[in-house]
Amino acid sequence: MSKAASAAAKDLALAGVRGVHLAWADNNGIPRSRIVPIGGLADAATRGVGATTLFAVFDTHDRITYGHPGLSTPSADIRLFPVLERLRRLAGQPSLAWAPARQVSADGSPWPYCQRAVLERVVADAAGRGFELRAGFELEFAIAPAGSADIASSPGHTGPAYSPHALVGVDDFVAGLLHDFEANGLPIGQLHAEYGLAQLELSLAATDPVSAADDQLLARQTIHAAAHAHGLRASFAPLVSPQAAGNGWHVHTSVRCKGRNLLAGRDRPGPDAAAYVAGLLRDLPALTAVTAPSVVSTARLRPGYFASAFTFWGTENREAPLRYVPGTELLGDDHANVEYKPCDASANPYLALAVLFTAGLAGIEDGLEPPAPLAGDPGTWSSGERQAGGVSRLPASPGEQATALAACPRVAGVLGAELLGAFQAVRASDAEWAEGKPLHEIVGAHLWRY
Ligand code: GLU
Ligand code: MG
Repeated sequence: MSKAASAAAKDLALAGVRGVHLAWADNNGIPRSRIVPIGGLADAATRGVGATTLFAVFDTHDRITYGHPGLSTPSADIRLFPVLERLRRLAGQPSLAWAPARQVSADGSPWPYCQRAVLERVVADAAGRGFELRAGFELEFAIAPAGSADIASSPGHTGPAYSPHALVGVDDFVAGLLHDFEANGLPIGQLHAEYGLAQLELSLAATDPVSAADDQLLARQTIHAAAHAHGLRASFAPLVSPQAAGNGWHVHTSVRCKGRNLLAGRDRPGPDAAAYVAGLLRDLPALTAVTAPSVVSTARLRPGYFASAFTFWGTENREAPLRYVPGTELLGDDHANVEYKPCDASANPYLALAVLFTAGLAGIEDGLEPPAPLAGDPGTWSSGERQAGGVSRLPASPGEQATALAACPRVAGVLGAELLGAFQAVRASDAEWAEGKPLHEIVGAHLWRY
């Protein structure tokens, strides 16, 4: 390993790289990192780099909560190891390279709070049962000129939505993004001006889940750097203003078995695809507690914004939290997937994928059948109609999310007792911070956190 690291470090140093970010995402979806000088990469790959255990109990506002008994003292250290297979020079920050970090106990044994390890476990377990998993994120974000205090008073583009005209003013930024994504080894499907305030969207190519989560982190670093290089700043916050459409980070997932996409279907999902949808639907309230976990996430999940607010699914229904995307004659069976909408930048991407696949695969293994798909928006129905239709509101507050997670051992259990405890303590700390604050203040405090 250190031989490979030495060789990689030598090449990077010759190319002018001075240091490497060892990056991970915390329980708020906030990327954290340690930079090691390029000369220290081989040592970091062999012995790791020290970091406090307390990153697992940082809340969204960089406050350390000591509310989780497992991590209630400042006296402990872990080691961060670079994942060398994912080491990249950063096109937008050419003096730096980047690698996702594994979080390992000080003695080298697995550390139960490592979010990446949780997803690795879920993927390995699924592989043991013959399932091959694929995932890809769509990232929405808003831009403003560098130095802006917010997006609403100085939007980085003013639309029209989806129009090529909208992006003319930030043409060099768009070109920089396209260049840097390619150079950083991040294939994207498409990029466009979205309909939210000063919003853009790009979709990352689907890949294996751990790489998809790594890619999501690298994509964020790439976007921030390109924005900075072109006089802009980017916000990935779930809401950038109380009224505007939010930034969703929708997740597309699919499952293969024996070379066949189990989510295949044309107008409607086949039996396995339907069972996968039913599994996600069964655990949806608890899933959102992990995939849209910030206080501002719950405000984003409103009806009428394509963000999802109620428990239902539909084929190609953009208002549904679960949008079944069928295969077509043109695109074939491999195109079929389920788009999951109640996810955003405040989710740890490794944990989000871990819980989504666990719930979906449980649906397949339990042979579940989903209720009928909906083509409309139950947000326009009366509460009586929703009740009659078996449609309920997704958790709309931190308290409701905490209750939903605690009530679902299948989802909560994915994290393991220790990480679950830290995650819950962090959520409680965030909720305590937000108590009594108006939404605009909450939105403002989250705007530049991700
Ligand atoms: N911005 C919406 C959200 O909050 C999604 C819009 C879309 O469907 O692309 O998720
Ligand atoms: Mg979108």
